[in-house]
Amino acid sequence: MLPMEQLSALIQEHLGQGWDPAPGAAAWVAGESALGGRGLLAVRDIAPGQVLFVDHPLLCGPRSGTNIHRGCTVCSKINDQSSFKCPKCSLLLCSEQCQSSTAHHNDCALITRWPNKVPIEEVDDTLLSRALTSIRALLLDEKSRQFLCTLQAHFQPPHGNEVRDLSKYFDIPKEEEKLMILASCVLDANAYQISNQYGEGDMHKRGLYPVASLMNHDCVPNTRHAFNSDFHMIVIAVKAIPAGAELCTCYTGLLWGTPARRVHLAKTKHFLCACARCADPFEGGTLLAALKCFQAECGGLLLPARPLQAAAPWRCMECDLQVPANHVADVQRALGSLVSTVDLEDVDGLEKFLLERITKFIPKTNQIVLDIECRLIWLLGEKDGLRWHELSEPRLSLKETLCRGALRTLAALGAGDAYLRGLLLYHLHAALAERARRAPLLYEELKPEIESTIEQAYNILKDGISGPPDLELRRRYLGPAAADKPREERFFILDNKSL
Ligand SMILES: [Zn+2]
Ligand SMILES: [Zn+2]
Ligand SMILES: [Zn+2]
Ligand SMILES: [Zn+2]
Repeated sequence: MLPMEQLSALIQEHLGQGWDPAPGAAAWVAGESALGGRGLLAVRDIAPGQVLFVDHPLLCGPRSGTNIHRGCTVCSKINDQSSFKCPKCSLLLCSEQCQSSTAHHNDCALITRWPNKVPIEEVDDTLLSRALTSIRALLLDEKSRQFLCTLQAHFQPPHGNEVRDLSKYFDIPKEEEKLMILASCVLDANAYQISNQYGEGDMHKRGLYPVASLMNHDCVPNTRHAFNSDFHMIVIAVKAIPAGAELCTCYTGLLWGTPARRVHLAKTKHFLCACARCADPFEGGTLLAALKCFQAECGGLLLPARPLQAAAPWRCMECDLQVPANHVADVQRALGSLVSTVDLEDVDGLEKFLLERITKFIPKTNQIVLDIECRLIWLLGEKDGLRWHELSEPRLSLKETLCRGALRTLAALGAGDAYLRGLLLYHLHAALAERARRAPLLYEELKPEIESTIEQAYNILKDGISGPPDLELRRRYLGPAAADKPREERFFILDNKSL
């Protein structure tokens, strides 16, 4: 492993402009982690909301996922009508403009240097998209390659397979293949998904942020990150971090229950998490993994009594019934297939599924319920036909209730000012503001909460491109700074139906 001084030098050189510690000293250093290996450690007390660093990617490009076969490899836009394969390299593009961009010129030049084994139009463009981020490693300069080599990598297949598969189509020099496989294995271990703009369904992208990669995982992270339009990553403390503590990020869903998180981490990142949340059968009282007791008349909750041992039986908190882990897994699989039948865009269907079906089988605290609730939160008020002014009264209050419930769960986890909290506060604010718009008599009563929720949401969401587009406008008119303005003047932005 690289000596720590050399690593620190690489970090400083890489961050350059993004390395702008507050006067005095940097808030953190690279050092030995208590988890083993390296990590980033706070060297003084850090306040919530403090920017810790701004990282930029060594590599970025398409991320394997459901929409990768449809997105432009330059701008990531999905446009099924206009997309075409570049006649020279077979990469997917959306327009002449993207075809003539420098980004494509670079990609194209790398690929067309390789003699092809089949006619270029027969090359699998989805495979090329999946391998493209690793292909771009061929453009890295010496220093960047050095940083790449110091990062953790998962070398066992399937990691690297998308690069190996390129040899079906091209004669690739061994040295180049080796570097691309290394890049792929490092990407799989460390890459972050780059957020799209709010509400945009673009192809997913991923980036290799080398400094952020040095942060270890915790299921309740003490940082959040946001991306700006140049794909820079801003890393921010979500709560107070005492000197000596590690800066942590989270590689899984924050609202997933412990077994789901640990299986995902073991499969994709090859480690078994043993953080405080994973060790707590109750997950801070959120009971995200809980199932109903298999004794029909009991009514108690079934929980993983020893959550760090995946094979240990689950136990009912009420009647002490023990259920073998494989029986629990069968039930979870069945629930999974039940959920896969639901159309995630259909509000009526989701509501029905939530109220009439799924809660018959599982407790309301279960992550599946929460997941569907969040789906509903994102759709109500924002989807065509269900815009704010079109929402029925029951749906408006459902939205408010769901926001409050999810916020309570986050608070119980100790998630601090996580990105998700910002988003939920924004939606809660919007629901409250719509109520006050409809019922002027409620204005005075709702005013303090409308102001505080938008202010808090703004502070959490303001840094990245993925915040709601009307975030600033809402804060300006409905936030505490406009508290003295008359009601009509503040609410006219909501009467504009185009919002
Ligand atoms: Zn494009
Ligand atoms: Zn091309
Ligand atoms: Zn954990
Ligand atoms: Zn029971």
